[in-house]
Amino acid sequence: MKPLGDVLRRIHLVEPERPPGYEPPLAPAPTCAICNDAGYLRRDVPTSHPSFGKLFPCDCKVREQNERRSNELGRLSNLDAFTAHTFDDFDGSIPGVQDALQSARDYADNPDGWLFLSGGVGTGKTHLAIAIAKDRLERFPMSNILFLVVPDLLDHLRATFDPNRGVSYDERFEQIRRADLLILDDLGTENTTPWAREKLFQIINHRYNERSATVVTSNHDVYEIEDRIRSRLLDQRLTTTVQIDAEDFRRPAWLPAPRPRGRR
Ligand SMILES: [Zn+2]
Repeated sequence: MKPLGDVLRRIHLVEPERPPGYEPPLAPAPTCAICNDAGYLRRDVPTSHPSFGKLFPCDCKVREQNERRSNELGRLSNLDAFTAHTFDDFDGSIPGVQDALQSARDYADNPDGWLFLSGGVGTGKTHLAIAIAKDRLERFPMSNILFLVVPDLLDHLRATFDPNRGVSYDERFEQIRRADLLILDDLGTENTTPWAREKLFQIINHRYNERSATVVTSNHDVYEIEDRIRSRLLDQRLTTTVQIDAEDFRRPAWLPAPRPRGRR
């Protein structure tokens, strides 16, 4: 048989014996003086008030959630992979790109509505789209900006159906739908399932209805883009469209330029 005091101490019901003069360590001071690190607050309102007894996130919690979202979107966007895709790195001397460069700069200054960058392969659309994201992030590091190549976006959504991925489909879908600025690179005739096409439409339609800042690039003839997406994309009340008529900067000089595309 053990003495009762030892048994209770073992299960932490009584304070352990301390040497004489022992000072218990002070609890660390809270980081947030408003909520004492609880993260949530109750408003001081009378019992009849609709907010009585309800918990509201403290500013520190809102900041923390925003920072987490921003980091998560940064990880998905993977913009660090594009080291030389800033406005300063963009060669504005190439004929046909000046308007696009100016429009992209204007949009980065004030991302209101949608910007649609259309043009052939290798005309700098992706560079400009990434430069917008980088410029915004430099000015507002905690912005919720998401850059996604459209086929990758659909892969990300499909992957969330894998329970081992740690993020639910609903969470991912909401992150994409609600990003402060969404950049969809390489929109085209998505060679994918009806399910994925429907999801892409839902994202685009939500952002259209909310007038959320969105940049879209495409090297496809707009008439190849699905009707209901195209009609929203080309809505002049929302979208600034920039057609880049430049040569493919990757095309070797010996290769003749492709013939202009016609409408179907
Ligand atoms: Zn707080």
